[in-house]
Amino acid sequence: MMCAMPVLAPRSSLISRRDLQFLLHEWLDADRLTARPAFAEQSGELFDDVLELAERIATEKFAPHNRAADEHEPNIGSDGTVELVEGVKEALDAFYGAGLGGAGVPEDVGGMGLPALVSTAAFSYFQAANTGTAAYVLLTTAATNLLLANGSPEQIETYVKPMVEGRFFGTMCLSETQAGSSLSDIATRAEPQPDGSYRLFGTKMWISGGDHELSENIVHLVLAKIAGAPPGVKGISLFVVPRVLVGEDGSLGERNDVVLAGVNHKMGYRGTVNTVLGFGEGTHRPGGVPGAVGYLVGEPHRGLAYMFHMMNEARVAVGLGATALGYTGFLKSLTYARERPQGRPIASKDPRQPQVAIVEHADVKRMLLAQKSYVEGALALLLYCARLVDDERTLETEVERARAHLLLEVLTPIAKSWPSQWCLEANDLAIQIHGGYGYAREYDVEQHYRDNRLNPIHEGTHGIQALDLLGRKVVMDGGAGLALLVETIRATIARAAAAGGEAETLGAQLEASLQRLLEVTAGLWSQGTAELDVTLANATIYLEAAGHVVIAWMWLEQLLAAAGEDGDFYDGKRQAARFFYRYELPRTGPQFELLAARDRTTLDMRDAWFSS
Ligand SMILES: Cc1cc2nc3c(=O)[nH]c(=O)nc-3n(C[C@H](O)[C@H](O)[C@H](O)COP(=O)(O)OP(=O)(O)OC[C@H]3O[C@@H](n4cnc5c(N)ncnc54)[C@H](O)[C@@H]3O)c2cc1C
Repeated sequence: MMCAMPVLAPRSSLISRRDLQFLLHEWLDADRLTARPAFAEQSGELFDDVLELAERIATEKFAPHNRAADEHEPNIGSDGTVELVEGVKEALDAFYGAGLGGAGVPEDVGGMGLPALVSTAAFSYFQAANTGTAAYVLLTTAATNLLLANGSPEQIETYVKPMVEGRFFGTMCLSETQAGSSLSDIATRAEPQPDGSYRLFGTKMWISGGDHELSENIVHLVLAKIAGAPPGVKGISLFVVPRVLVGEDGSLGERNDVVLAGVNHKMGYRGTVNTVLGFGEGTHRPGGVPGAVGYLVGEPHRGLAYMFHMMNEARVAVGLGATALGYTGFLKSLTYARERPQGRPIASKDPRQPQVAIVEHADVKRMLLAQKSYVEGALALLLYCARLVDDERTLETEVERARAHLLLEVLTPIAKSWPSQWCLEANDLAIQIHGGYGYAREYDVEQHYRDNRLNPIHEGTHGIQALDLLGRKVVMDGGAGLALLVETIRATIARAAAAGGEAETLGAQLEASLQRLLEVTAGLWSQGTAELDVTLANATIYLEAAGHVVIAWMWLEQLLAAAGEDGDFYDGKRQAARFFYRYELPRTGPQFELLAARDRTTLDMRDAWFSS
């Protein structure tokens, strides 16, 4: 174990509490959720108490070891176990001790049953304070929800309750060295056993939280192929593979045949140990024979569909993490800009006058406004998605729940990718505002950038999200998802038109961009599945343009929620909305042009032409 000087982040440098309050109470009507039977026992005050608790634990337990975890990355000690910096376990114990592990989990399995809107908002504090330590929770919560949705009653009894309590942690084991984006190529195999269990053999790569001593047990959710399975993704099954086998009474038994084969050394996100795991290497012999004991989740060959449940949730959580890192970087660069005297106003460069704080310079204000518009726009989208999770679970009718589900489906690739791109850009601007100091390790912002750089890579790369959006989500069910998104955005535009003034003007601008999005989508798919390579060649440009349209919608929503309100907070919201519409939304113009032309530049490029 190593330790370093604690760096205590001041409360206000994580996520603005005022902003969360605005988004939850003044915009998304969190209090009205308590009218639904699922949340009838709860109240707006309880929601605020949870946020207060989260902010306190994040500040006091998660933030202090964030720097140390970056400087002393996990390694394998002489006894073969993973060593982490001091503070990780204490922070996680505090988190689970406060019951936050079950914040969004139903009460009948030991959770608090809070709306996803509230648990998501609360979790953003932990990701802002220490994304590396928060990731153990993220993975465990996603595993919990996957088993709740798809596991057998026995699997739920055995694994879910201990995960809610923080006694067991979870992982997701998809990737292999030769199979990252292309999961159909996984080679891990599962052999059926007479007792109904399976034995797994193979190697998994990049597994976050794959081995450690933080919890009594680790619940690996593993993708593998059963012999004779159909080729491709339709032959993938999902298994629960505990690190330590669990008896029927919940007691821990034999060590399973899953071993740590190595740890990966990363650019950032270093607090989360990232592992290579060997399954069925014979190091341990449960029941006297080699092979990792696994239990099938649901039906054979449907594993990827089940895993998508976890991945979709994890994708939204990745977007939230990117947002949280962008947000804290923004607040820290704002504090720095207010305190750093440098230069004089362009209009009065009298050297006898004292220097002004750099926040006075228009270019620095541009960088701050850009960050504000990115991180507050992204946070709005992530909380909107969380609210959709509540809607798909608790709205009264089947039709309403299905609509919420469909809208969430189409928004998920954007909720993952847009923050991963633009809140990383926010971190870049935060470094720029710090000048040379931003490039030095003394300030937090360079770590935030490195930590955030993971987010466009994992949980489906940026390019894979783009293929998901253009290749699948906007055309699924005959385009029903896109139609619903457009209808929902148009409802906001109609409210803006009724409000008049600036809201109406921005609404008209959004309508024009939305119209372009619709035309371009229709144009791209005009050939049906013919020339699919041309249709999808610029999918990433499509994802980015659609993302800007969606965030512009989020800003119009915030502008409307701030209507008629006075004060710096609301003026700041209005100015950030203006900024997004003047500086950002117009970026989509050339992107739509390129897409409309079905441009082939990238497609026609030959490998040999890159460099000879
Ligand atoms: C720090 C970290 C933590 C991780 N944690 C986990 C974890 O807990 N569990 C887990 O299972 N995995 C995990 N991963 C793995 C992660 O999900 C993969 O790295 C990711 O899916 C990309 O796979 P790859 O690295 O093999 O890259 P590749 O799939 O080889 O992709 C390389 C590049 O090619 C592009 N590309 C690939 N295929 C296509 C295509 N068909 N069309 C267009 N472009 C394409 C990609 O977009 C990317 O830019 C983690 C990775 C990292 C770095």
